[in-house]
Amino acid sequence: MSSALPNSVYARDVEYILHPVTNARKHEEVGPIVIDRGEGIYVYDDRGNKYIEGMAGLWSVAVGFGEKRIADAAYRQLQKLPYYHTFSHKTNAPSVDLAERLVKMTPASVNRVFFTNSGSEANDTVVKLIWYYNNARGKPQKKRFLARTNAYHGITMVSGSLTGLPVNHRDFDLPIIPVTHLTCPHYWRNGLPQETEAQFTDRLIQELEDTIAKEGADTIAAFIGEPVMGAGGVMVPPEGYWPRVQEICRKNDILLIADEVITGFGRVGTTFACEHFGIEPDVLVTSKQIASSYAPLAAVIMSDAIYQVIADNTAKIGTLGHGFTTTGHPVSCAIANENLAIIEERGLIENARVSGAVLQEELAKFRDHPLVGEVRGIGLIAVVELVADKANKTRFDPVGKAGAILFAKGHEHGVIVRAMGDQIAFCPPLIITTDEVREMVRRFGAALEDTY
Ligand code: PLP
Repeated sequence: MSSALPNSVYARDVEYILHPVTNARKHEEVGPIVIDRGEGIYVYDDRGNKYIEGMAGLWSVAVGFGEKRIADAAYRQLQKLPYYHTFSHKTNAPSVDLAERLVKMTPASVNRVFFTNSGSEANDTVVKLIWYYNNARGKPQKKRFLARTNAYHGITMVSGSLTGLPVNHRDFDLPIIPVTHLTCPHYWRNGLPQETEAQFTDRLIQELEDTIAKEGADTIAAFIGEPVMGAGGVMVPPEGYWPRVQEICRKNDILLIADEVITGFGRVGTTFACEHFGIEPDVLVTSKQIASSYAPLAAVIMSDAIYQVIADNTAKIGTLGHGFTTTGHPVSCAIANENLAIIEERGLIENARVSGAVLQEELAKFRDHPLVGEVRGIGLIAVVELVADKANKTRFDPVGKAGAILFAKGHEHGVIVRAMGDQIAFCPPLIITTDEVREMVRRFGAALEDTY
């Protein structure tokens, strides 16, 4: 960074910005990469380097970069009505169109939409609405949330409390709400020696039942989970896990919340991952691919049973004391409508199955690599987990060392992946072709060869 000119974007970035999820001192030393433009599955930095965006940004850009139809839709809406709120009986057509579309796309169990700006706000909203619901139906002691270790549900005080990653709690004094983190359903890492996958699943279900017995079902509000964990390491749960969790929740009057912020809109090859796992949640949370992150937007979609209790309570109190300045933002919703139309018209969910099969097949070739512990994934989402000792699954010391080196090497080879510790994630735009998948994995392989 010492070579950067004082008024350059590099120097000013380092001088003025605190970056999220970044080592600030290291950033001061190495400086930023300025992403300047994007097209299809590629992004370009301001020095002319071209990268395959193997993570669709942050698991987001389903339709790829530079989609003109979305830019046009946003421009039309900006000219017509750039902003209006949705408090006090106001609405706008794009938000109504989007809500209807979401209700028609999502599992039949959810049919009422509340919009927020981010996944974190959506999960904060879920906690608030469920507490409100339980208070309203005379069960004020039902407050505790069940989540899992390795879960990622966001970063605000409440959603960050649901998150089960120590780095997101450390020195932030989280969690701040009653939450129990159950074992992450990751057989390869958390299965005991000699335990079969079916026995592992039985053990997790037993843990859930024991926790409910210990805490008391009358103190537990909900179970929240990503159908396939994302930021915690792309963990695909064992067969039968989700239907059994659902059954136990139903039996104990515990709501089931599917956090589909990453998996929603085709990522695993079905419209929602709930379909793939055969579950019908009481609340479904979406964001990211809803608008390909061309604008901030998230949606909480709840069951009619929850809505009816909430609606009665708003009548009793006089209003719903919750909402954001930009809830149902017309431009974000217009962008989402266009984005979802593109996903449908271009058959991108089908493409997630076709290109996803190639992604899983190509990455599986690294299974024999001496530093690869596990390759796992589903559809167009996958992880290659690096280990210091393959036989014992020993992690690198410090954790993340190998991932960080490989991440940087990937840039040299023209591919952006994500290093979550030593877990290297892939989550490319849903438009990626099978040839492009092969090229992306080839670049990753070259970076791996170069590194080790
Ligand atoms: N839930 C899941 C499953 C996520 O992956 C994320 C973000 O990665 C969030 C919630 C939080 O979303 P946001 O970063 O928009 O607040």
